[in-house]
Amino acid sequence: MKEGWEAVIGMEIHAQLATETKIFCGCAANVGDEPNSNTCPVCLGLPGALPVLNRKVIDLAAKAALALGLNINEESIFSRKNYFYPDLPKGYQISQYDRPFSSDGRLTIMTAERDEGGHARDWKPMTIGVERMHLEEDAGKNVHEGLPETEKFSYIDLNRAGTPLAEIVTEPDFRTSWQAYDYVNHVRQLLQWVGASDADMEKGNLRCEANVSVRKTGQKEFNNKVELKNLNSVRFMQKAIEFEIERQIKAHESGEGVEQETRLWDEKNSRTLVMRSKEDAHDYRYFPEPDLKPLVISAEFIAKEKESMPELPSAMLGRFQTEYGLGFGDASQLVSERGLAEYFETAVTKSGNPKTTANWILSELLREMNAAGKSASESPVSAENLGSLVALIDGGTISGKQGKEVLIEMFATGKSAKKIIEEKGLEQVSDTGEIEALVDTVLDANAEEVEAYRNGNQKLLGFFVGQVLKESKGKANPKIVNEILREKLS
Ligand code: ADP
Ligand code: ZN
Ligand code: MG
Repeated sequence: MKEGWEAVIGMEIHAQLATETKIFCGCAANVGDEPNSNTCPVCLGLPGALPVLNRKVIDLAAKAALALGLNINEESIFSRKNYFYPDLPKGYQISQYDRPFSSDGRLTIMTAERDEGGHARDWKPMTIGVERMHLEEDAGKNVHEGLPETEKFSYIDLNRAGTPLAEIVTEPDFRTSWQAYDYVNHVRQLLQWVGASDADMEKGNLRCEANVSVRKTGQKEFNNKVELKNLNSVRFMQKAIEFEIERQIKAHESGEGVEQETRLWDEKNSRTLVMRSKEDAHDYRYFPEPDLKPLVISAEFIAKEKESMPELPSAMLGRFQTEYGLGFGDASQLVSERGLAEYFETAVTKSGNPKTTANWILSELLREMNAAGKSASESPVSAENLGSLVALIDGGTISGKQGKEVLIEMFATGKSAKKIIEEKGLEQVSDTGEIEALVDTVLDANAEEVEAYRNGNQKLLGFFVGQVLKESKGKANPKIVNEILREKLS
């Protein structure tokens, strides 16, 4: 960022809550089904149809709020946000305005600036304010046929109308695009972790908007902000913020100034474009939704939700370092997904060796999983079986190199390591008597080399080891072969 300037960024995230049905009716919340197949008088906005709040929404929202460090309000109010758009049949969206479901959150994330190559430097904790998380219904979708210039038809698909959303709004606490980037990833991880949302940006069930302004360093007041939309990935969002910071600094310096507006990210040309001037809250004529009672949340309900919360990733990250002696890098990779963290812990109970287990999971297993496009919970190798494999390598039954082959076989067949080792006869021979016999055979067959060795050609040891291993079909324990050879040759 240009010297003398500072960026101010606030984030808004919309997450689709992972319910089976919509927020105010019993229609399936499956957006991708045959267009308009998941609709009813309520979500079509037919006159006289009345909304009924889906209990599951409250359950998932509570989990999300607690994970994000928000206070759940004892009473919150649904309001109508009035605007016209073809994908909004009622002419208003049921949302929450002045009394949201939850508010006043504090959330600590890990964040780092990135160098030119995109590598993180120096991860540090950062605590930001989460202003609120409120509940609302989503709108439908307008579907346009053909290119903008040739477009002939537009369609409306109301499968998405009425699916439940949680909107999470932060204080303007971010100062760099990478902080915003790390925040969105953190929220995504938390929502998935507690099962509140699939939080998949590609599928559109997590969408984010960035509010960006710049000011002179030391300046107290905020300048006009621009809202950035159409951010289809966290990386695009980061690039859009970066572009916008530079654009605004130039606009201020040239005296042109910055308009309060909504801009879109144009990935093809790496720039932001004006979409519309920003509407103010009073343009929406918010008023309390008369068809829904105030939402009252009891202290007992909150206490029960708190009790049923899983250990959160930040706590697990600390515990993996202290309890298992893992480094920050390995530990944070393992807690990147709840299924993976749990997989690791189960595997360790079998292997008894946390560090080696972490290595096998993060290198060998993840490589296979990524290649197969699978997540930890879908692994064909159970955590118990992976733990046993690590134990067999640790105990010298097979070598690490053989272990890699065994793992690939386990991945392909789902069989246990023990079974594969038996079937393939991979077990290392460590029996000294057996190895001694092999050594004798090799030495007898290579009398000339034995002579040369005894006359000082020490390099021939490698040759003998190779011959013995070959004779044993690769099964002899190389350490023991070495020992016996030295003994017999001396
Ligand atoms: P709006 O009424 O335009 O939606 P809000 O006050 O509700 O504005 O804030 C929306 C988001 O914009 C929040 O995340 C907030 O932190 C952020 N924000 C507010 N003012 C600024 C500013 N001057 N610069 C950057 N972000 C801001
Ligand atoms: Zn419906
Ligand atoms: Mg707002």
